Amino acid sequence: MRVLAVDLGGTHAMCGIVDDRTILACEAIDADGSQGLRSLLSRVAETLNAIVQKQGLSIKDFEGISVGFPGLVDSRAGQVLSTNAKYEDAPQIDLSAWSREALGLPLRIENDARMALLGEFYAGAAQGFSEVVMMTLGTGIGGVAMIEGKLLRGKHSQAGCLGGHIPVHFTGSRRCTCGGMGCAEAEAAGWSLPFVFKEWPRASESTLSKYDKVGFKELFEEAAAADKVAIAIRDRCLRVWCADAVALVHAYDPEVLVIGGGVMKSAASIIPVIESHVQTYAWTPWGKVQVRAAALGNNAALLGAVPLLSESAAFHTRMT
Ligand SMILES: [Zn+2]
Repeated sequence: MRVLAVDLGGTHAMCGIVDDRTILACEAIDADGSQGLRSLLSRVAETLNAIVQKQGLSIKDFEGISVGFPGLVDSRAGQVLSTNAKYEDAPQIDLSAWSREALGLPLRIENDARMALLGEFYAGAAQGFSEVVMMTLGTGIGGVAMIEGKLLRGKHSQAGCLGGHIPVHFTGSRRCTCGGMGCAEAEAAGWSLPFVFKEWPRASESTLSKYDKVGFKELFEEAAAADKVAIAIRDRCLRVWCADAVALVHAYDPEVLVIGGGVMKSAASIIPVIESHVQTYAWTPWGKVQVRAAALGNNAALLGAVPLLSESAAFHTRMT
C-alpha cells in the first residue's frame, strides 16, 4: 500500500511518501505550532505534490494520507479534540475536507505518539508483538498502548495515550501543560528540565549553569563529566521514567516496552536502568517485560501511516 504521510511537530512538519515499510521520500518543512495549522496546510499540500512528482508518481498512485498530530485526536471522526500549546486552531479545521479538496485523497489523523507506536509495531522494535507500550522521552513524554494488536483509544479517544501525564510526584507543585500536578512530564521532560534545574539546590555551582538552556544533551554530558548536580538531576529523571514505566506496565499489561524520543541518544544510560527497574518492581508473575529502544527514530510516525490507513479500511469494511 502506498500512502502520503505527515508528522506535525512543533518546529517542523515531516512530509513523506511511504510504500508499506519503506519511506520512498521525505522532506521536512519549517513549521511554527504557535502560528496555527491552517496557515501550514497549503505548504504541506505543495510539498507532498512536489515529492510525488519528483518520484515520477501521481496522486492517483496513493490510497490516502495519514497525519500524526501532537494533541488529542478522535481518529474515527477525523477530528482534533484538544491541543497542547501547538496548532490551537486545529479543532476548528475539517481536515478530511481539506485533504479531499487539496489532494483528492481520504485522510486519517491520529495522535502522533500512537502513530509512532503503530510504526514500531509494523516496521520497528515491536514487530511480532501484539501487546505493546511505547514511551517517548523528549520535549514531552508520550505514553501509548496497544492491546491485542489494536491501539487503545477508549470512549473519548484518550485512553492509553496520556502516559506522560500519569502523576509520579503527588507533592509536586509544578503545573503541567495538561493542567495537572506532579505529572511525569512536569518532572522529567525537555520542557520542564530548565525549571527543575533552576529550582535545584546549588544549581549556580553546576557546570550546567553555563548553558542558556539546559536540555537532556547537556544534562547527560555534564553528568558523564561528573558534575554532581547534573548526576543528581539525571538520576531523578531516570527515577521518574522508571516510575512511569511501572505504572504503564501495570495499566496495560504489555509484553514489550519500547522507549523512543530524543533522549535515546543516551539509550545506553537509560534502557538498562528502566529494564532493571521494571523487571524488579513491576508485578508480572507471567514473566518479564522486555524493554527495548525504539528502532525507527524520527521515522516512526511516518511508518505508522500504512497501518493507520489499513485500519481505517478494515473499520469501514466492518461498518458496511
Ligand atoms: Zn500533565
